Amino acid sequence: MKILQVFSLISTLLATSQVPDLHIPNQIHLHRPDLHIYNQIHFLRPLSGSHGHDIPGVSCSSWRLAVETNNIIGWTIVPEECVNYVGHYMLGQHYRNDSKVVTDAALDHAKSMNLTGDGKDIWVFDVDETTLSNLPYYASNGFGSTPYNSTAFNAWVLEGKAPALPESLKLYKSLLSLGIKVVFLTGRPEDQRNVTVANLKEVGYHTWEKLILKNSTYYSGSTAVVYKSKERKKLEENGYRIIGNIGDQWSDLLGTNTGNRTFKLPDPMYYIS
Ligand SMILES: [Mg+2]
Repeated sequence: MKILQVFSLISTLLATSQVPDLHIPNQIHLHRPDLHIYNQIHFLRPLSGSHGHDIPGVSCSSWRLAVETNNIIGWTIVPEECVNYVGHYMLGQHYRNDSKVVTDAALDHAKSMNLTGDGKDIWVFDVDETTLSNLPYYASNGFGSTPYNSTAFNAWVLEGKAPALPESLKLYKSLLSLGIKVVFLTGRPEDQRNVTVANLKEVGYHTWEKLILKNSTYYSGSTAVVYKSKERKKLEENGYRIIGNIGDQWSDLLGTNTGNRTFKLPDPMYYIS
């Protein structure tokens, strides 16, 4: 009888537990392998409707799924009621686990290809929230709950302190070992080339075939889909074969010349068309 009572008590606690407010640290070193990880946040079970009870916040997982599957598009900020949810997702293990599923599938695909070894097999990586992580910035700026501030974000970029997304760095190294060359294709403007090169090298990306940044004059007013499609087309016109293409935005993966396969990394913090 006592066992049943204890079980019932635990069930009640799980079903009614409230998610604590996020306490966002000023400095986040989550993805720096040389620094101690101190801000791991618990897994998301309390937000996922345990025991079939209706727990406030559960709809945010549906919102995130719709965002990741490109069913909700054109959104400008994370809904207010989902900010805590997104914060937990990004800083906890869930984001990392989801990223690993994507990069593992990407590597399986690369290994399945018959590579020619002629130096023309390439993999296209987006940069922000793919190769590099701006999570330290977003964690200090509401996880996408406030409108994009180009001044503040560019100031962060120019610090050159974005850590690598570890799963992408591992994929990058594995692809190089298979003989696939890497092309970085980013919406960052040309005037951020030097800091981007330094940042990439600092966190472990030491070599690449090309680093393509956006020519703000030529592509003035163009969407990311148009810009990236045109640049991928140029690559193919120069004889490269795009074995794979990975990014956190659908605009990295849609359009033309998208490659043999595309891989979508999670990003519930912002949307780029
Ligand atoms: Mg990106």
